Amino acid sequence: MTTFHALYGHQPEGEWAAPGRVNLIGEHTDYNLGFVLPIALAQTVRVQARRRTDGRLRLHSAQGDGTVTELTAEDLAAGTVTGWARYPAAVVRALLEAGHRVGGADLSFDSDVPTGAGLSSSAALECAVAVAYDDLYGLGLGEQELALLAQRAENRFVGVPCGVMDQMASMCCRAGAALYLDTRDLSARQVPLDLAGAGLRLLVMDTRVKHDLADGAYAQLRAGCERAAELLGLPALREVPLSGLDEALSRLPDELRPLVRHVVTEDDRVRRAVALLDAGDPAGLGPILTAGHASLRDDYRVSCAETDLAVVAAVAAGALGARMTGGGFGGSVIALVAADTAEAVAGSVTQAFRSAGHTAPAIHQAEPASGARRVS
Ligand code: ADP
Ligand code: MG
Repeated sequence: MTTFHALYGHQPEGEWAAPGRVNLIGEHTDYNLGFVLPIALAQTVRVQARRRTDGRLRLHSAQGDGTVTELTAEDLAAGTVTGWARYPAAVVRALLEAGHRVGGADLSFDSDVPTGAGLSSSAALECAVAVAYDDLYGLGLGEQELALLAQRAENRFVGVPCGVMDQMASMCCRAGAALYLDTRDLSARQVPLDLAGAGLRLLVMDTRVKHDLADGAYAQLRAGCERAAELLGLPALREVPLSGLDEALSRLPDELRPLVRHVVTEDDRVRRAVALLDAGDPAGLGPILTAGHASLRDDYRVSCAETDLAVVAAVAAGALGARMTGGGFGGSVIALVAADTAEAVAGSVTQAFRSAGHTAPAIHQAEPASGARRVS
């Protein structure tokens, strides 16, 4: 691995890390101002960083093509950056736009969060830059402010109209807990989740089908939800109560109904999941996960053959429940399993993929890990 010194001719001032995430339940609810329940992964994007006094941003990633991208302050302001460097550049641009007096930096990234796998490597990358800059330039911003800055960076300067879940998860999650987040006012509660203590495992199965959120499908779904809210005379679909769902659906054109049904029932699934965790029954999450997948497959229509197969194969092999996680169109599936069935479930899913002629999934186990932090 290329060292910071070899790249930039000096040592870093420090190293920061920000995790990827899986969302247990609450998919496509964040941009409808509803509820989500993510956990942070042990996998992180790490950045070694040092301030520069000339306003330049120099960027290298161990997952990139080996080159150093060098941007002047003018390049940053003009937004002419291309490729992966758009993400870190976007965060610095968002900081400047918000009036923070920050300068340049040498940044070197390394990561074990797979990209485009629905595990939110993009937010991890953004949040790593946000916490590093906060420390390097003594900004003293809170986690929530940094998450909002990172989201704004991705929305405005990368062009992905994502909600706030990924950045809030990467910044605010804690080891041993799921983050119960209300995306309307960003009030959040750490809900204790000790999977191992409950004799459970959470399998994260990357189907290796790459999604691409920038490809327009996500933006179309989001626009559909906003149109439905407008027709209902509401600021966001979050305002439709479960008890008022049928009445709301009767006022909407056919093509918008499944979207609304997913969002409203998914919000209810998040609340029921949190109630189960509060009651000390994490195993009870299983059927909620599987019902969430059915809703994403049949109503929201963001699953694909591989994610559907992983869910079916996991449940058939004894998983308590399974669902796709992330925006969809590929990416990863999570499965909640009893500890002593973890290997058999993973083996069955791998076998089912082989039989169907799909590339083998990458499967690992996850426990709720820490949010973004300085590591040295
Ligand atoms: P996801 O967030 O689900 O992983 P996205 O499409 O939102 O998928 O973001 C993936 C993009 O983030 C990559 O194509 C790349 O541009 C950028 N990225 C993530 N991690 C890294 C990294 N370690 N080095 C360089 N770019 C990265
Ligand atoms: Mg992303």
